[in-house]
Amino acid sequence: MAKYVYDFTEGNRNLKDLLGGKGANLAEMTNLGLPVPPGFTITTEACRHYLAEGAVPDGLEDEVATHLAALETSMGRKLGQADDPLLVSVRSGAKFSMPGMMDTVLNIGLNDESVQGLAKQAGGNERFAWDSYRRLIQMFGKTVLGIEGELFEEALDAVKSSRQDTDLTAGELRGLVETYKGIVREQTGRDFPAEPREQMRLAVQAVFESWNAPRAILYRRQERIPADLGTAVNIVAMVFGNVGPDSGTGVAFTRDPSTGHQGVYGDYLQNAQGEDVVAGIRNTIPLQELERLDKNSYDELMQIMQTLENHYKDLCDIEFTIERGKLWMLQTRVGKRTAAAAFRIATQLVDQGLISLDEAVTRVDGDQLARLMFPRFDASAGRKEITKGMNASPGAAVGKAVFSSERAVELAAQGEDVILVRRETNPDDLSGMIAARGVLTSRGGKTSHAAVVARGMGKTCVCGAEQLEVSASERRFTAPDGVVVNEGDVISIDGSTGEVFLGEVPVVDSPVVEYFEGRQVDDELVKAVDRIMNRADEVRRLRVRANADTIDDAARARRFGAQGIGLCRTEHMFLGERRQLVEDLVLAADDKERQAALDALEPLQKEDFTGIFRAMGELPVTIRLIDPPLHEFLPDLTEMSVKVATGDATDKDRKLLAAVKRLHEQNPMLGLRGVRLGLVIPGLFAMQVRAIAEAAREVPGARPEIMIPLVAAVQELEAVREEAASILRQIGVDALIGTMIETPRAALTAGQIAEAAEFFSFGTNDLTQMTWGFSRDDVEASFFSRYLELGVFGVSPFETLDRDGVGRLVKLAADEGRATREDLHLGICGEHGGDPDSVHFCHEAGLDYVSCSPFRIPVARLEAGRAALAGNDSDTR
Ligand code: PEP
Ligand code: MG
Repeated sequence: MAKYVYDFTEGNRNLKDLLGGKGANLAEMTNLGLPVPPGFTITTEACRHYLAEGAVPDGLEDEVATHLAALETSMGRKLGQADDPLLVSVRSGAKFSMPGMMDTVLNIGLNDESVQGLAKQAGGNERFAWDSYRRLIQMFGKTVLGIEGELFEEALDAVKSSRQDTDLTAGELRGLVETYKGIVREQTGRDFPAEPREQMRLAVQAVFESWNAPRAILYRRQERIPADLGTAVNIVAMVFGNVGPDSGTGVAFTRDPSTGHQGVYGDYLQNAQGEDVVAGIRNTIPLQELERLDKNSYDELMQIMQTLENHYKDLCDIEFTIERGKLWMLQTRVGKRTAAAAFRIATQLVDQGLISLDEAVTRVDGDQLARLMFPRFDASAGRKEITKGMNASPGAAVGKAVFSSERAVELAAQGEDVILVRRETNPDDLSGMIAARGVLTSRGGKTSHAAVVARGMGKTCVCGAEQLEVSASERRFTAPDGVVVNEGDVISIDGSTGEVFLGEVPVVDSPVVEYFEGRQVDDELVKAVDRIMNRADEVRRLRVRANADTIDDAARARRFGAQGIGLCRTEHMFLGERRQLVEDLVLAADDKERQAALDALEPLQKEDFTGIFRAMGELPVTIRLIDPPLHEFLPDLTEMSVKVATGDATDKDRKLLAAVKRLHEQNPMLGLRGVRLGLVIPGLFAMQVRAIAEAAREVPGARPEIMIPLVAAVQELEAVREEAASILRQIGVDALIGTMIETPRAALTAGQIAEAAEFFSFGTNDLTQMTWGFSRDDVEASFFSRYLELGVFGVSPFETLDRDGVGRLVKLAADEGRATREDLHLGICGEHGGDPDSVHFCHEAGLDYVSCSPFRIPVARLEAGRAALAGNDSDTR
């Protein structure tokens, strides 16, 4: 039979799934011999059953009764017993800490009779007994009966007037209890339940139900906590911090959660119960002062905190209560900390001999490292938020709003900081994006052009700020509340939160980026990062490459530790002045004209590749042949139509318009792009391959790899491969020829495709798009928030690789590809290559490397190290 209840002596800290964090750690402390009031935990399984069926599972009531009886025996009192009552608290506690999100009820067991017994127990302290009783009705009324908390607070304030709650007399509190009971009657139409077992039963159910309270749901969504875990419920014998001045309650950390420094960090409140500290009804005092008030308890507390740190080998936070000079531990957990403190604490614990350096690597994560790398807004500065969009690429950027790329370039050239504001960006905006400090768009999701390109450049970007009306022609945008920002007005955007502010918010730089850039930084945090990164590099199996297509990006990638380039997108090399040459290519009337256009492009491409090979030295460089549809390089259809219709068009304009119409596609993502271009436009891929080979011949040690995009069938690859191989042979250069796996068919036929490919690189942006059937440019802004709300997924599959679907295709392709060609080299170059969870997946799936934007390289290195230490290697390798 299922066991739904565990005594504290039965659990331990490894049972968080079942007992929740609080229950598991109370059990752990009990077993360490620390002073924990006795109690038991009802499991999360019981909660899940209750939420699914609307009733507690069979047998739960009996099990609770048995454990309660044992508790009563050990305490020598019965729950709510009139002359000498046992009181209990009913506390929520989920697997992941959700501070203040769910319910807790204290002092269960009090009623008009047992309140007298409680006073007697406390040596005739009537004031304490009535204070406890009024607290029960207040908390129970609010959390179990759903009565507006303010009604109780107003009644309390009316009695207190300008005094503190501790100044209330027993008589006044007794009167307050009557008032509170009246509120309950009025609001619910029934009396406050006097029967102790009934109180307990209702409180347990209320805690179960609080799992689905709106604020808990919101918190889980934000923190990415799964919605189906449920909460455990702890029933604990009450100890009282509100018996008098020799009692009190407090919270503490075993070290400073924002710096990691050791010391005494905490707050204490005399003559109070737990919720008072958090509710802030009176000012707390620093924990150090407890030494003066009650030296014995203070010394014992310091000792226990040391015991906990040594036992958990980590920063712990705790809650405690002192009842008439006796210390009780009510909670502990491994405490939350800032990103900087996480790195510092991990290495401090190594130095103290508490953990190994490997363990330290697992104690920090890529998200924390990324947070340390962004410049940030000074949190202490005043600021005016005008709207919020998606946090597409982190960082803090300040500058004058500009509404076109030309203007961005112009002002930047004059030394101005600018923020490029567009409805959405397109490849033409690249120069403006490079010139700007940050990019703000009102449309598009996290994989929109603006977002992907900005992340690639490490540029701050907020996208999809839908409340903004952006007018490029009027050079201004309007925000809610009638705020109008004209060109030249200063705005600040926070790419880590998506917030947009009016005016300048001061920014502080990150020393961690300076360090990755190779500059000497004398900083305690940087030293901690350095030690952890070095160890991660030593233990990782996955190599880390960069997605880079400029010399600057390649050089930065190398400084950041890239072991090659995994994706050099060549289409960015066809923009700007070269657009003209692409137009010539599209408009070519015959083979001769087309060849002339290609011949003009070739030396330029060769120069591009030479630069990148030089920047990368002897590291491998995977160059992807051109991928997007050619019409992306042509002028806009509407613009051209207007030009032609209004009569100021040249002959070429008319030809261009015809070409734009001819090449127009309903679904360009599924149209003439990738390998299809290479097969349809003679000489295009050949030109690129020749440029690569010629460049490689000029740079000693260069290691080019040629990658074909959007392949779906081995026949496509064979046709391109043959031509490429013969060009390489002619020029006398060796290069691997491989393919991207970005269509489901390519993944499903990977065994065949591997016949013609020396490497696979998973293009998981397109693979996600095509596996889910989600347009990568549209869906995040249009309906992902609803999908997240519904729990279709917990995080966008464009952000974190969808293991169940896309991941399965990746695994299958990796396994079948390797079955055909044992030494098939495997990597990933979609945005997922820099996402922590996806890096772990790549390790587990046995890939050889991940490739990501230069600024994500340290994150990928760290996560690859963590994945290796976690030891979940693929059994196929
Ligand atoms: C991909 O599809 O994952 C990829 C890397 O290619 P792109 O983003 O350029 O389409
Ligand atoms: Mg792609």
